[in-house]
Amino acid sequence: MLSYDEALARILDCAPGGPLPGEAVPLSQAYGRVLAADIFSDTDLPPFANSAVDGYAVRQADTRSASETHPVTLRVTQTIPAGYAPRPPVAPGEAARIFTGAPLPEAADALVMVEDTDSQGEESVQVRAPASADFIRAAGSDLPCGARALIAGTALDAAAIGLLAALNHTAVFCPRRPRVALLTTGDEIIPLGDTMLTPGQIRDANGPALAAAVYEAGGVVSVAAHARDTAGEVRAALTAARADCDVLLASGGVSVGGYDVVKEVVESEGKLNFWRIAIKPGKPLAFGSLSDTLFFGLPGNPVSSLVTFELFVRPLLRRLAGHRELTRPLVSVRLAAALPHTPGRREFARARVCWGNDGYQATPMGAQGSHRLASLAGANALLVAHEGHGDYAAGDTLPAMLLM
Ligand code: AMP
Ligand code: MG
Repeated sequence: MLSYDEALARILDCAPGGPLPGEAVPLSQAYGRVLAADIFSDTDLPPFANSAVDGYAVRQADTRSASETHPVTLRVTQTIPAGYAPRPPVAPGEAARIFTGAPLPEAADALVMVEDTDSQGEESVQVRAPASADFIRAAGSDLPCGARALIAGTALDAAAIGLLAALNHTAVFCPRRPRVALLTTGDEIIPLGDTMLTPGQIRDANGPALAAAVYEAGGVVSVAAHARDTAGEVRAALTAARADCDVLLASGGVSVGGYDVVKEVVESEGKLNFWRIAIKPGKPLAFGSLSDTLFFGLPGNPVSSLVTFELFVRPLLRRLAGHRELTRPLVSVRLAAALPHTPGRREFARARVCWGNDGYQATPMGAQGSHRLASLAGANALLVAHEGHGDYAAGDTLPAMLLM
C-alpha cells in the first residue's frame, strides 16, 4: 500500500502544468481567488507625504525647546484638511493646522499632535512638546513605486484586495477555477427532499458535503449526478460528466464488495494509478484518469470521503486554482486525553484544538468510526498519528492539521 506522502506526490505529479489558464476577475468578485502573476506597484503608496495625526506641521527646529512650562508660540498660516493640497511652504516661526491624511506642506519637517498644543484663536498656537518627524508618513513608506506588492499564488484576502484597490486595479488576473464533476453512487442513497425513505435507504450526505469542500478548495461543481450500483450506470454517468470538468470525483463503490463497481469501471475504461493508501480513515481511495481527465474515487463513508478529499483532492484543486500553499497548516499539539492508535497506517484523527496555557491542546473526538460525520462536524483539526507509532497517552505531543 502507498504511504500518504507517496500518494500525494503521485497525485500532484499528475498536474505538471500547474495552474489552469487565467481570466480577468473584477476586484469586487476576487475574494478567495488566486493571483496568476506577481503584482508590482506603479505608484508610491502613500502617493505623497502626509500627516499621521491631527495637529500642526512645523519646522522641527522651531519647537525643539518646547515644553509644558516653556511652550513655543507659532503663527498659524493655513489649514490643510485631508483631500486638499497645501498652499505656501511653512516659513520659520509658522505652523500649518493639519489633519490625518492631509499632505504635508513644503518646508515642514515635523508634526506636533493637537493634544500637545493650545490654540490661541485662528492665527496662533502654543506648542507644549517638540514636534516629531515620526508623525510623517513618507511617500512610498507603505510600498514604493516599482516594488512587488503581491506574489503570484497569493490567495486574495481582504488585505490583498485593499492593496489592489489602493493601486487602482479594477480587475485582477486569476487562474480559472477548477471544474469538478461530482458523482455519488449507491442504491441506498436518496437525494434530500420530500421523498420518504424506505427501509435501508439514507440521505445523500456526500453530494452536498463534497460540493462544499470543492467550493472551499477554490473549485466549482460543473456536474452533479448520481448512479446506482451498476457498472452500466456508473460508466454512463462518468462518461457524460467527463466532458465538462477538469477533475472527476466519485463517492462510494471503491471497496472490494460485489456492488463496488466504480473501481472496476475506471479500470476497464481508463487508467487506475492506485486504489489503496496506508491511511485511516480512507484506505480505499482510487486515483487515476478517464481519457486524460483526472479521477478520484473517494470512499463512501462520509468521514472517509471528506478526509480523503481534504488530504488528496484539495491540494490538487488548489494547485489547479493557482495556490502557493497546497495543504493546511500543521502545528504541534499536546493531547488532553489518550489517543488509541494501531501502528501500520497513518491516522488522521478528528479532534478539537484550542490554545491552552503552554501551547495548543487537543481533545480527540472519541470513537473515530468513519460513519461518524457528527464528530467531524464538531472537529477543527485532524491529529496526525504516525504509522510507526502505537497508542498516544495524554500529555504526548503530535502534529495536527488545522481545518480552520
Ligand atoms: P461504499 O464505499 O459505497 O461501500 O459506502 C460505504 C458507506 O458509505 C455505506 O454505509 C454507504 O451507505 C455510505 N455512503 C455511500 N455514499 C454515501 C452518500 N452519498 N451519503 C451518505 N453516505 C454514503
Ligand atoms: Mg456503495
